[in-house]
Amino acid sequence: MPCKNCVEKPVIKLTNSKIQLCKQHFIKYFEKKVLNAIKNYKLIDKNDKIGVGVSGGKDSLAVLNVLNTLKNKTRRFEIEAIAIDEGIKGYRDKTLEKAEEYCKENKIKLHVFSYKDEFGDTLDNFLKKLNMKACSMCGPFRRYLLNKKSRESGFSKLATGHNMDDEAQTIIMNYFRRNIETSARLGPITGIVKDKRFVRRIKPLYFMTQKEVATYAFLKGLTDEFVECPHSTDSYRGDVMEMLNNFEAKYPGTKNSIITSFMEMLPLLREIYKNHIPIHNCEICGEPCSQNICQACKIVEILKNKAKDV
Ligand code: SF4
Ligand SMILES: [Zn+2]
Ligand SMILES: [Zn+2]
Repeated sequence: MPCKNCVEKPVIKLTNSKIQLCKQHFIKYFEKKVLNAIKNYKLIDKNDKIGVGVSGGKDSLAVLNVLNTLKNKTRRFEIEAIAIDEGIKGYRDKTLEKAEEYCKENKIKLHVFSYKDEFGDTLDNFLKKLNMKACSMCGPFRRYLLNKKSRESGFSKLATGHNMDDEAQTIIMNYFRRNIETSARLGPITGIVKDKRFVRRIKPLYFMTQKEVATYAFLKGLTDEFVECPHSTDSYRGDVMEMLNNFEAKYPGTKNSIITSFMEMLPLLREIYKNHIPIHNCEICGEPCSQNICQACKIVEILKNKAKDV
């Protein structure tokens, strides 16, 4: 069967439907659907200076490419790219090359910040010193740096490449771990900021599946190899991802239903939790956080004490 809109050979069958599209019509469909999400959820305002978080992987390059195309068309907002180098040998060094290449070709300013410069060493070395799950250490460091550096770089918003699969996993993980309050901070755009020092996050690929994002990145020539973080398979997220993929294969549309149901509940969740967590200043670094010491500083302190013990 040819493409739904022309006689060309299809490159993809859309999830949960019988529609098949050729390369040209799929790219059109993808960019239009992302644009609709941006419009419907007011992700971008006029004169925004958007920082786009790039890892150099397919999702982040896809979001950077869509936003760059839109920016060039409308000239209504600015974009720059921000990358975090965790120091994961054989992985981040490779993907960062892709990010640098793309930004250079498209004349986008790229800011790179590393764990080594900011916290004193690479993730690889930290993990040798401390017996901790990689993502439990990396996640807080990454969130901390992305927010702080986005604010210092003057970004009004931070765009990330999170897609429907990522979000469905996070929603389910929060249920399984009885962590519903954290879900109130999800959605295509973060809620009302309780502290100006938090840069609002937007997820333009929110309604696109992992498969669609990968296909777009591949067809656009943004990346030719799909490298995964060597630590990603260890995580709790990996198990939830596998479970959801099995469900999706057996019951197509499952991920979409999770997202749609969640979007119906999100206004209620935000209302319930809006004043729940007071914002403090971290006693060590002064960044906004929910406890007396932020998560990143807590880990740095543990690492320092560990070094003293040796
Ligand atoms: S998978 Fe875990 S260790 Fe790897 S980059 Fe992501 S958060 Fe860091
Ligand atoms: Zn077509
Ligand atoms: Zn701190």
